[in-house]
Amino acid sequence: MTQTAQVVICGAGSVGVATAYYLAAHHQIRDVLLVDLHPPLSQTSAKSGENIRAWWPVQPMVDLANRSFDLMEALAAETGNAFHLEKRGYAYATQDAAGLQGYLDHYRSLARLGEIRIHDRGATGAGYAAPWESQPSDGLDGADVLLDPVLIRQTFPHFAPTVQAVVHARRAGSISAQGLGMLLLERAKAAGVRELRGEVVAVETKGGAVCGVTVHTPAGPQHIETRNFVNAAGPFANRVAALLGRSLPISTVFQQKIAFQDTLGVIPRNAPFTIFMDRQRIAWSDEERQEFASDPAYAWLLEELPGGLHIKPEGGPESTWIKLGWAINQRGEEPIWERPGDPAFPDLVLRGAATLAPGLRQYVGRLPRPLLHYGGYYTKTPENLPLIGPLGVDGAFIAGAFSGFGTMMSCAGGELAAAWVAGAELPSYAEVFSLNRYTNPTLVETLSRLARAGEL
Ligand SMILES: Cc1cc2nc3c(=O)[nH]c(=O)nc-3n(C[C@H](O)[C@H](O)[C@H](O)COP(=O)(O)OP(=O)(O)OC[C@H]3O[C@@H](n4cnc5c(N)ncnc54)[C@H](O)[C@@H]3O)c2cc1C
Repeated sequence: MTQTAQVVICGAGSVGVATAYYLAAHHQIRDVLLVDLHPPLSQTSAKSGENIRAWWPVQPMVDLANRSFDLMEALAAETGNAFHLEKRGYAYATQDAAGLQGYLDHYRSLARLGEIRIHDRGATGAGYAAPWESQPSDGLDGADVLLDPVLIRQTFPHFAPTVQAVVHARRAGSISAQGLGMLLLERAKAAGVRELRGEVVAVETKGGAVCGVTVHTPAGPQHIETRNFVNAAGPFANRVAALLGRSLPISTVFQQKIAFQDTLGVIPRNAPFTIFMDRQRIAWSDEERQEFASDPAYAWLLEELPGGLHIKPEGGPESTWIKLGWAINQRGEEPIWERPGDPAFPDLVLRGAATLAPGLRQYVGRLPRPLLHYGGYYTKTPENLPLIGPLGVDGAFIAGAFSGFGTMMSCAGGELAAAWVAGAELPSYAEVFSLNRYTNPTLVETLSRLARAGEL
C-alpha cells in the first residue's frame, strides 16, 4: 500500500508529538504522518520525572528552556492548566556553603537567568517566597540562595542539620508530561495530523534527497511517499539515522527511579523537587562492604558517588507517594525496548537520599510495598545538548538527544524542529543545537566543560 505525506515523523514520544503539533500550529503543515511502533508517549516519555527548569549551566540551554517555559505557560493559561504546571522550583541542597561560590559566580555570568538573591544568616527570610507560595503566573525567576540555618530549617524541616545552603531556583517545577503530550497530540490530530502504528524500516532517497519511507505495520508493509522525514526515535535515533547512512554522536545511558508510599510522612507534601548536590559515600555495614568488594560488578558502590540524587513528593496533598532518583550511571549501552532495572538500585538510592533527609533511613531494609522501580535511557551527546536540525541528507531532520530534559524542552525543541522542516525563520539559538556545532570543536569543548561543571 502506498500513501503520501508532506512530512513523516518517526517517533511519537514527547519530541515527535511536539514537532507534529508545531508543524500544524505554527506553519499550517498538517499533512503530517506520525509513525510509531508503540502507543504515543509510551516509551522514554512515560518514564520522565516530569520536572522542568530554566536553571541551566550553559547559555543555549537557558535560552531553549526559557522558550519552552514561555510556550508551556501560554498553553497552561489557554487551557486552564490542563497539564498541571506548578512552579515550586528546584531546591539544590549542599553541606558545603563555601563550595557554592564558584557555582554561583558561574550562574551569575549567564544572561536571562534572573536575579540571584542571597538570604544570609539572620536575614529572617524577608523577601523570600516559600516553594508553596509560588504560582505559575508569578513571573518569579533566578534563584534564592538560603544560607540562614533558621530559614533552611523552617522551609525544609526534613533536611539533615548539616545542610548549610539551599539554592532555590524559581523558574522551575513540574508538569504532567502525559497531560502536555496528549494535549499537543489531540490538537495536532484535530488539525489533520495522522498516526500510523508501525516500525520505520527504510528511508528511501533519490538524487541525495528523501523520497519515501517504508513502515512495517501489523497489516503489512506500507510505503509512504514523502520529501521530509524527522527522526524523533528517542534512544533508537542512531538506528534510524543509519537507515540514511548517517551516524550521530550520541550514547544511551540507562537511568532509574523508585517510587513508594512515604507512610511515615518524612517528606513534606509541599516540598519542591530537591537535588542533593554533594558527592557521598554510602555507610554500608561491614558485611555489605565485604560482599561488594568481592564482586567486580558492585565494587563501585564502595566508592565516592556523584551528586545529583533527587527526592520529590509525587501527587497532590492527599497522596503519600514519593519518588527518588539518581542519574548515577555513566556507561553507555546498546538500547533495548524492555530494559530491566538494576536490583541494587532501590536500596542504594534510599540510603543516598537518607543522607539529605535522615527520616528516610527508617525505610532501609523495609521499603514499603508496592515499590515501583523503573528506568529509561538518557539519549545524550557528549556535551549534553540536544540535536535539532538537518540530518545531512536533503529533507531529513533530527530531533533527538533530549537526555534528561525532553519533557521540559519538548515545546521549544518541537517548535525548533518544525521551523527547520518548514524552512521558516530560525531563532538565534538554532545553529548551536544543530549538527553544525561540530564544525566548531572549540565551541563543543567549551559546552562540554561547562555542562560538566554545572551538571547535577
Ligand atoms: C528516568 C528518567 C527520568 C527523566 N526525568 C525527566 C524530567 O524530570 N524532566 C525532563 O524534562 N525530562 C526527563 N527525562 C527525559 C525525557 O523523558 C526524555 O528526554 C524524553 O521523553 C525523550 O522523548 P523522545 O520523544 O525523544 O523519546 P521517546 O519517548 O523514547 O520516543 C521515541 C519514540 O520513537 C519510537 N521509535 C523508535 N524507533 C522507531 C522506529 N524505527 N519506527 C517507529 N517508531 C520508532 C519509539 O517507539 C518511541 O515511542 C527523564 C528520562 C528518564 C529515562
